[in-house]
Order: sequence, then structure tokens, then C-alpha cells
Amino acid sequence: MSIQRPYGAGDEADSNEQLAMAHAVMRIPSPRIARTGELLDLIRREVAVTTSELATKMGVARSTVTERLELLTRHGLVVPAGERQAGRGRPPARMAFNPRAGITLAAQVGMSGTLVAVSDLAGEILWLTQVQLDLAEGRDALETMLEKQFTAGLAEVGEDLSRVHGIGIGMPGDIEIAAAGNAAQDPDDWAAHLISRRLQGVFHCPVFVDRDVNYLALGEQRVSWPVTNMMLSVKAGTVIVCGLVVDGKVVRATSGLFGEIGHSKVAGADAPCTCGGRGCLNTVAGGAALAAQLREQGHDVHTAREVAQLAKQGVVAAVQAVRTAGVRIGEVVASAMNLLNPEVITVWGYLADAGDQFLSGMYEAIYKDALPGAANSVVLERSRLGDTAGIRGAALTVIEHTLRPEVVDSYFTALAEG
Ligand SMILES: [Zn+2]
Repeated sequence: MSIQRPYGAGDEADSNEQLAMAHAVMRIPSPRIARTGELLDLIRREVAVTTSELATKMGVARSTVTERLELLTRHGLVVPAGERQAGRGRPPARMAFNPRAGITLAAQVGMSGTLVAVSDLAGEILWLTQVQLDLAEGRDALETMLEKQFTAGLAEVGEDLSRVHGIGIGMPGDIEIAAAGNAAQDPDDWAAHLISRRLQGVFHCPVFVDRDVNYLALGEQRVSWPVTNMMLSVKAGTVIVCGLVVDGKVVRATSGLFGEIGHSKVAGADAPCTCGGRGCLNTVAGGAALAAQLREQGHDVHTAREVAQLAKQGVVAAVQAVRTAGVRIGEVVASAMNLLNPEVITVWGYLADAGDQFLSGMYEAIYKDALPGAANSVVLERSRLGDTAGIRGAALTVIEHTLRPEVVDSYFTALAEG
């Protein structure tokens, strides 16, 4: 089935929720369709999976449930779960969500490599590729690459356009992009306009664009820490950024600048920063800064990835640089902990992968600077999803938005009205 039809290319973006987001042209559900989306949601979350469970949970007649189950089954969204047992006391038929009822296209755009993927409707990755693209080449080059790779991905998994529920794209922050050689841009210039409009037109589906760190946090929370109420996700790569998930929602705050801990001022630091200020955390603990420090000591390193490689090889200067970066980042995170008291802090990126010294450094600072209660109760660990955390977050964003009960009801109503 395809659920993208009610979406229009010219719909307005809701900048408060996503940097760019296509909206469905929502329709009032017809009486025979109303609450079909709610029923699908209950099955998908495995809250109620038999006709009687669904009828009880929704407070409706079994015939109402049956009618909606037939509709969902006809469109492949719901399938019988497991084998029915023969013989006496036959259990009632259990229904399950069918993750292969459609697909999403997802990308995690990075300063040193972009991941492009096709996922099913459970967010499981069906196809994944990595592409090198210098963001200094600009938006058109990025769009062209994404269009080409998404098309290739569709062919690889044997799917066509009608099966695409949506596209999710995680982008680095604008300060990062600007630092890569582009003139400073209006914050949603890259995200909201060009990317969403062009790809919407080509793939006829909604496009969701958000900060990469938000998708990293969302993916990690949904897959690795589903019952955690407050999770801080730190991206420690070329620059330091963080995302926050509270009660299952990514915090975006006022102007999309949430989580810019890399621009927190560090005592004793005075180097100029890409933000125009001086002495920011990024200038002493970001991967780019570490590479510069190591070059001064005669090492041939230019990127966060190369710094991490050197540390993993046991080169003392690199190990020390990574450990000190962990302490500096930990000091800033400790302040955030005193404010937020998170249950879990996950760390993602090249520095997190550089060896145990990085997390040890963070631990050291957190135990020194955060309130003892906050430090003792927090779980600090490397991202469990690793490279694919952002992709999973992008795919899950598409799925959670396009399978919202009201969107599903609207879709089927539009279909019935022709
Ligand atoms: Zn700064």
C-alpha cells in the first residue's frame, strides 16, 4: 500500500516540530473509517492484538473492529500473527503489524561521509550505502546525490515509488556547514526549502529534515532505551553537539539551537570559534581542534576520524588528547546534568569510538563536577546503534508521523472518496 497520496508538495512546513516537514492534506474521516488508525496503532504497539482485545480497548463492537481489520488487511498493513493451533480451545486469531507494507528512505548527512538507506516500516535497514560528498559543494550537489542514491536504493530492494512513505534526512548544524566553506546561511535554508521541495517532487512523499543529533538521539532512545524518560545524546566528532529526548519527544526548544554545548565557554580557552566567539568547547575538545593540536606536535592528522585512528593505535599524544577532550566535554555535560538529571547519556561519534580513554575522561569530570546524586544514577555509555543511529532516527521519524492514527484515517478517507 502507499500512504503518501494525501500529501501535497506545496504544503506548509511546521518549523516548530521539524526543520522541514510536509503535511498531509488532512481529511475528516468518514464514519466507516474513523478510528482505523487507532486500531492499527494498538496492533503496532502490541497493546491489543485480537478482535476482542481491540474491541474492549477501544470500547466498540467487535463488528466495528472486524470491519477495520479487513480494511487494514486488504492494504497489507496488518497480517495474521503466527500459526493458528488446531484442536480444542483454539486461541483467537492474533493480528500483527506488517513492517513490509511500505518503506522509508533515510539519510544521515555528515561532514565526512553521508549514509543513505532504505528501511522497512519497523525502521529496520534493508539497504545502506556510504557516500563521500563535500558539503562545500552546496545544496544542489547534495540533492542530486540523494536523489540518485534513493533511486538506486529503491531498485536494490526491488521497491517502487508507490511504496515510499516518506524521506527522513539528518543534517549537521548550520554552524558546522558554514564552517565547511559555505557562507553563513539562514538556518533553514539548507533544510526546509530546497531539499524538501525537490525530493518531495521526485518521490511524491513527505520529507522530514532535522538536525542529525536529534535523529541520533531519537534512534538511540527508541531502539536502545525505549523506557527511558530523559536521555541526553552527545555527538562527539568534528564538533560537539547534543540532543535530548524527554518522555519520548526530542526537545527542540526555541530557535533550533538546542544542544549547542560545543559553544559553551571553557575556562582558560581563548581560541576563535566558527560561531564568532572565543574559547568555546569546540576549540579545545572538538575533533578538528584535536587534529590541529596533534599537527603542532608533528602528527599528520586532519580530521576527527584520523585523530581517533591514531588514538586507537596507541599513539600517546593522541590518547592523551582524546582523554583530555573527554574531561573537557564531561565538565560541560556535568553542568547539563545538574540542570536536567538525565537517566542515560549516550555518546556517539569518532571521539567516542577512539577508545576507553574518552569515556573515562568524561566519567572523571562528571564525578568531579556533577551533583553526586546525578552522577551516581546516570548511565554513561557509547551509542549502542553506532553508525546507523541517525539513519534509524530518520526512518522512525517518517514512520511515526505517517502512521499517526489521524494520518491513517485521513489516507483511507481520501482513498474512499477517490
Ligand atoms: Zn563557538
